[in-house]
Amino acid sequence: MPLSTDVTLPRIAVPTFPDRCINCGTSKPGSHVRVGTNAIGWWTLVFWLPGRRFSVAVPACEPCRRRLVRRRWGRRIFEWSIGLMGVAAALYLLGSYRGPFKRWLALGIALACLLPWFIWQTLFPPPIDLTAYSDTVQYEFRDADYADEFVSLNV
Ligand SMILES: [Zn+2]
Repeated sequence: MPLSTDVTLPRIAVPTFPDRCINCGTSKPGSHVRVGTNAIGWWTLVFWLPGRRFSVAVPACEPCRRRLVRRRWGRRIFEWSIGLMGVAAALYLLGSYRGPFKRWLALGIALACLLPWFIWQTLFPPPIDLTAYSDTVQYEFRDADYADEFVSLNV
């Protein structure tokens, strides 16, 4: 079951998007929505620090642009809320724990709380999402046809 179609480009490549709305498909949308992410790598796990910021302007019609920005903020608030609930659950469950690996157990509990959200995001992806690494960027498209057009314009 393909859930998103992923296209990987070098980080330094300037991507060309099809001239239609990423959300509704309207041609010549005349507006853009900025999509960004922080690079991930070994430092993310070791130091729990985000990497360099990467963002692109993706064509979107004005109503979809507003909708996508609202949805992004709602998603962030929801992610932070369940992340904090995960931390609270870890503190509650491990409050009196004196054994080894307490930090990793806390991380595991927090991630377990986020797991339903990760599954939801996989089953119902946003129109576009990015995963940036040190040298490449993975563009994740909900619409496989849009992804195919993107490939023909960039690869
Ligand atoms: Zn649209």
